[in-house]
Amino acid sequence: MSKERLVVIGNGMAGARFVDDLLGRGGGDRFDVVMFGDEPCGNYNRILLSSVLSRSHKPDDIFINPMSWYAARHITLHAGRRIERIDVRARQVVTADGLTEHYDKLIIATGSSPIIPPLANVRDEQGTFKHGVFVFRTLDDCERIMRAAAAARTAAVIGGGLLGLEAARGLLNWGLETHVIHLMPHLMEAQLDPGAGDVLRRQFEQMGLVTHLATRTTGILGNGHVAGLEFADGSRLNCDLVVIAAGIRPNATLAADAGLTVNRGIVVGDDLACRAGDVPVPDVFAVGECAEHRGRVYGLVAPLWEQTARLADRLSGRNPDAVYVGSSVSTKLKVMGVDLAVMGDKEPVGEDDEVVSYSEPSRGIYKKLIVRNGRLVGAIVLGDGAVVPSVLQTFASGLPLHDNRAEILFAPASTAPAMVAMRRRRLRTPRASAIATTYRRRRLSKRSWAALEASRRYATSHARQPGAAPAGPKWRPSSRSHARVSRKRSSLRISALSSRHWLRPRTPARPTPLQISRSTRSSASSATRMASTSKPTSSDLCAMGGKRSTNPIVSG
Ligand SMILES: Cc1cc2nc3c(=O)[nH]c(=O)nc-3n(C[C@H](O)[C@H](O)[C@H](O)COP(=O)(O)OP(=O)(O)OC[C@H]3O[C@@H](n4cnc5c(N)ncnc54)[C@H](O)[C@@H]3O)c2cc1C
Repeated sequence: MSKERLVVIGNGMAGARFVDDLLGRGGGDRFDVVMFGDEPCGNYNRILLSSVLSRSHKPDDIFINPMSWYAARHITLHAGRRIERIDVRARQVVTADGLTEHYDKLIIATGSSPIIPPLANVRDEQGTFKHGVFVFRTLDDCERIMRAAAAARTAAVIGGGLLGLEAARGLLNWGLETHVIHLMPHLMEAQLDPGAGDVLRRQFEQMGLVTHLATRTTGILGNGHVAGLEFADGSRLNCDLVVIAAGIRPNATLAADAGLTVNRGIVVGDDLACRAGDVPVPDVFAVGECAEHRGRVYGLVAPLWEQTARLADRLSGRNPDAVYVGSSVSTKLKVMGVDLAVMGDKEPVGEDDEVVSYSEPSRGIYKKLIVRNGRLVGAIVLGDGAVVPSVLQTFASGLPLHDNRAEILFAPASTAPAMVAMRRRRLRTPRASAIATTYRRRRLSKRSWAALEASRRYATSHARQPGAAPAGPKWRPSSRSHARVSRKRSSLRISALSSRHWLRPRTPARPTPLQISRSTRSSASSATRMASTSKPTSSDLCAMGGKRSTNPIVSG
């Protein structure tokens, strides 16, 4: 049987992953694969560009599919060749240098390009960026930024989103005075609420970053080479390196010119086929950041890997009816020293949505859960990596939550060194240990037990990674009595609360100063160390007023 010709435009994280998925499902028996990539190399992990910039990875370390990978699988790769035109009727694609390639199936995986805001003087007469101005999208960009950073003194990053902050952290590692200029009043506004944005800003400022919020950059200063930035209020900032990280736009012009439907991205159905109007176009598909599915364009890797798997299922014949129905996204900031995970909704949507939040700005901690119909539909976890695995797992599973929301908001007490020490003191005999274990097992549902295990694994793996966040919360084992210790540190108060809860589960809970309240449409007060509520209960008022509790375990 003669093989069909499958052409992929884009050799990035979605294009190459799709081919890998397809071949892994036996698609090599059906198709001859031809790939076109604008970049002159194999496929690398774009996510790790931030690590290359901050010098924790070398460029060679981040390749997923080097050139030999394609050769070994008989894939024809045109690296460094850009497709200029798609002819859907003639079923062919044409490169910028005139090469024409026929296809039986076409996959468009062209990704996104950085958005360049309207800035005076950003380009020279030839239309290229002024010397010292960069975007941060490709390995080539990254290497050029690093060369410039070696000779620069002051850097400015335009954009305080995920990418801008990762770029800024990388530049700090080069010893540059680094400024982030952000149009919005708080950092990462797409993922964070103002409270979390504020805590994050403090953390970055403690690292040495200078932030300029609610600031609009209007132009680049300097002749020939960048000398500074100019802002809408007329003020200026001297700098000799500028990175623009002001968002991305799907690369969809190629598809639009071919008559395919394009809104924000290339519109695809659940079958991932492109559309002309509302009609599916036979044998033309789009995956990755260039694709728009059910009105959503994803800018993260996890959803696009779900897309490539479903498309590979269909085209390989393993499951010709496979459909992609969308993804719930979670993301983590990969900045050394900052533990941030975000998933789903950041604010309540309906009147009945519950918000459970906890904020401790002095320690860089901010946690927030959005609960809808008893299920976790969104979370922000900043500054407490130990709870991230269980929160992620709860979010992904979509299972109903335990009535005590604090169970996922705080790390299981057993992961805290102080707690382990405390329990050892209490449970000296094997029999006492056995009783406690039985109680704990009874109390924990299977799901929470799995979450606890995941949390332990996460803490252990973090402990092994050089430069990673410390394992678990920053508790120090203490020889003093837990009551006296807890007076000193609020984190220990929490652990003591959990311990009481775990070890004596049948005792009716007494109100405590740190009772976690649930509320509708409430938001965290960034200045308090307690759970927020819009209608405080008497126990909450006790905490707000700073009153000492009579509970010996909690307040000492
Ligand atoms: C610095 C950085 C950090 C990131 N961190 C994270 C993270 O932590 N987590 C996360 O989930 N995501 C992260 N992302 C986003 C993630 O990298 C993207 O979601 C992912 O790379 C998108 O894959 P893609 O294949 O759709 O696009 P790309 O990976 O951009 O690949 C598209 C490829 O198509 C090529 N191309 C475009 N047009 C043509 C044409 N006409 N002809 C031929 N080739 C063409 C491009 O040159 C490119 O190589 C990060 C991105 C960057 C830049």
